[in-house]
Amino acid sequence: MDRPDKTNNDTHSDVPVGTETKFRLLIDSVRDYAIYMLDPNGMVYSWNPGAERIKGYTNDEVIGRHFSAFYTPEDVEAGRPELELRAAAEAGRYEEDGWRLRKDGSRFRAHVVVSPLIAPDGKLSGFAKVTQDITPQWEAEQALRDSEERFRVLVDQIRDYAILMLDPEGRVSTWNRGARRIQGYEAPEVLGRSLSLFYTPEDRANGRDQRLRQEAEEAGVAHDIGWRVRKDGSRFWADVTLTTLRTPAGELYGFAKVVRDLTERLEAEAQAKAYEAAREAVQMRDEFLSIAAHELRTPLTAAQLQLQSVRRLTDREPESWRHERIAAGIESALRSNGRLAELVETLLDVSRIATNRIRLDLSEFDLTEACRDAVDRLREMVKESDCEVRVSAPSPVQGCWDRLRIEQALMNLLSNACKYAPRSLIEVGVEPLEQQVKFWVRDTGPGIPEEHVERIFGRFERAVSTSNYGGLGLGLYVTRQIAEVHGGRIEVQSAPNKGSTFILILPRRATAAEQGHTARDLTEQD
Ligand code: ADP
Repeated sequence: MDRPDKTNNDTHSDVPVGTETKFRLLIDSVRDYAIYMLDPNGMVYSWNPGAERIKGYTNDEVIGRHFSAFYTPEDVEAGRPELELRAAAEAGRYEEDGWRLRKDGSRFRAHVVVSPLIAPDGKLSGFAKVTQDITPQWEAEQALRDSEERFRVLVDQIRDYAILMLDPEGRVSTWNRGARRIQGYEAPEVLGRSLSLFYTPEDRANGRDQRLRQEAEEAGVAHDIGWRVRKDGSRFWADVTLTTLRTPAGELYGFAKVVRDLTERLEAEAQAKAYEAAREAVQMRDEFLSIAAHELRTPLTAAQLQLQSVRRLTDREPESWRHERIAAGIESALRSNGRLAELVETLLDVSRIATNRIRLDLSEFDLTEACRDAVDRLREMVKESDCEVRVSAPSPVQGCWDRLRIEQALMNLLSNACKYAPRSLIEVGVEPLEQQVKFWVRDTGPGIPEEHVERIFGRFERAVSTSNYGGLGLGLYVTRQIAEVHGGRIEVQSAPNKGSTFILILPRRATAAEQGHTARDLTEQD
């Protein structure tokens, strides 16, 4: 529009007449805006059809009226109409959204622009007002605001979940009650701060937080379970879901994060597990006590019977005192007592192992000789089981070990062979390796099913039923410990019905290191 440059908002005085008429027509054709003019005192002096449509007054009704008629009583009371005019005159323009009244008294939401009209002499000649009825938009926005507010209140009230929003760089932008409760921070303490605040130092160092955001960015959502840190430094077990938020155009504008504190559940589970373990331990102990009692009772009863029969001989049949019969009875009772002593020794070993108190008494000896000694000591048992033992030890194998412990290990393996593979050939062998030595016990008995092979070296573990074979399930456990404190190991090769071979591999010289290890553990314990 052709407009002289000397004034700012002068709309009509300098405009050629033809143009003014066109301009008038234009204004009159506008129906969606109320466009009207006021004199410097606020009296209406021009009115367009848009104004009539929006405000309800006809031209005749409104010309000459003060424009405060369009304001609510509160606004009139507060002097707003005058304030607006003054503001427009001072600033050259005034704009606002506010409530206005129609002729029928109903309210509408108005967007208002007021411009002062300045005459060529620089004096204020009035005001032009453009008012738009924005009630529908306002209502829609209000509905949205209400729903957002309701949602905000809802999110804020949730106690059990920390629900927060992050900006694209991972800084906190909202904080709810659950977040306060779980993480311990008040909103002002965390808003704008990086999420890494809640991570453990380890996770911060390894970039867990960035990784999780990256994953969420790529997949839309990411899930994580792990330790997080509260304000007071304590840790909690968090279940985290991170959802990527994008604008309709696909641009990243942040993340929604939902965190659940699973610490209590974790603790409850740990407690349940501990309880279950304790219950199993008690059950195991009860079973063990019952088996041990049976095992101990057998030789005890035997010894008792043998001693009673000897007493009968001495009491009632003094004339039949025969040296050999008494000697045989006593011999028998001693054997039973020997078996008892062995059982008690095994129990003591188990308790020594449990408290790290197995000590080695190292000395130089020939392993083949020790093997023969062990076999010799089990002569009786081998005979009773109808087995035959063949020792293959071609040359002396000299080394440094605990002789009694090595013989004990061998006797354990050999007595198992007699027990589980009666009436069979048992081979015992000793063989020097480069830095190590190896000895083995092979039988042709029932073998051990694959699934039990690992287990049988455990404490109280057995692969047979108590009703078929007596035993505490401790022999292999003790044997493995003996191998290990020497710095060696035990292996088994076995297949059902193909017999079993137990192999002990020891370093040529058990060193003081193993000893030292035991001794140190002991001092630490003390
Ligand atoms: P126990 O003989 O008192 O049961 P061990 O610890 O010596 O305890 O043995 C554990 C289990 O290993 C035995 O119960 C048995 O099932 C199995 N086992 C051990 N030696 C043999 C073997 N030579 N042949 C078959 N099974 C064996």
